[in-house]
Amino acid sequence: MNLIMLGAPGSGKGTMAKFISSDFSLPHISTGDIFRKNIKDGTELGNKVKSILDAGELVPDELTIDLVKDRLKEADCKNGFILDGFPRTLVQAEALEKFASIDSVILIDLPFEVIEERLSGRRSCPSCGEVYHTSTYKETNCQKCDASLIQREDDKLETVRARLKVYEKQTSPLIEFYKNKIFKVEGKGTPEETYAPVKKFLKEMK
Ligand code: ADP
Ligand code: ZN
Repeated sequence: MNLIMLGAPGSGKGTMAKFISSDFSLPHISTGDIFRKNIKDGTELGNKVKSILDAGELVPDELTIDLVKDRLKEADCKNGFILDGFPRTLVQAEALEKFASIDSVILIDLPFEVIEERLSGRRSCPSCGEVYHTSTYKETNCQKCDASLIQREDDKLETVRARLKVYEKQTSPLIEFYKNKIFKVEGKGTPEETYAPVKKFLKEMK
C-alpha cells in the first residue's frame, strides 16, 4: 500500500501515520522529521533549510523531491509506505507520479481555529520525537525518554498562521489533484476516533 497523508499542519497527519505504520508495518516517511533531524545533526542539508522551517515556509521543491525519491528507493519501501508532509505542492505531486504509484490519499479535515489552538499547545521531544499537548500532558519532560520538551519554533502562533496560509495556497490544491483517491476523515475527535474509520478503510483495501 502506497499512501499519502494530506491535511493542514496540525491536523494530526503525523499521529495517524504512526498508527498506520504500526498496524500495517509500513515505513512512516515524514519530510518534516527528516528536515528536523538534519537540522539537529547540523548536516549540510540541515543548515540549508533551518531558516526556512523556522519561518514556516516551504523548502524548495527540487530539494524535497530528490530527498523523497531517494528515500523511496530504500528496501523498507518495497511493500509500501506512508508519506507524511509530502507532496505539499502541485509540482511535488506531479513529480511523485513519475517515481511512485499512489493507492490512496487520507485527508484529515479540521477547521483552522482548532488547528491554531492545537499547534500552539504542542510540545515535542527533541530526542525521540514524541509529541504532547499542554492540555493533556502537564509534565515538562518526555514520558518515554525523559528529555526536556520543547516548543518547535514553527509552532509559535505567528508562524502557525503563516504555515496555514502556505497550506491554503500551495497544498490545498492537492485535494482536487487527488480527488479520485481521497479518503476523507473528520479530524476533530481524539486520535483513536479519527483513526477508527481509516483503519477500517485500509483493512478493506488490503
Ligand atoms: P506540519 O505538517 O505540522 O507543518 P511538518 O513536520 O510536516 O509539519 O513540516 C515542517 C516544515 O518542514 C514545513 O513547515 C516546511 O518548512 C518543511 N517541509 C516539510 N515537508 C515539506 C515539503 N514536502 N515541501 C517543502 N517543505 C516541507
Ligand atoms: Zn522523548
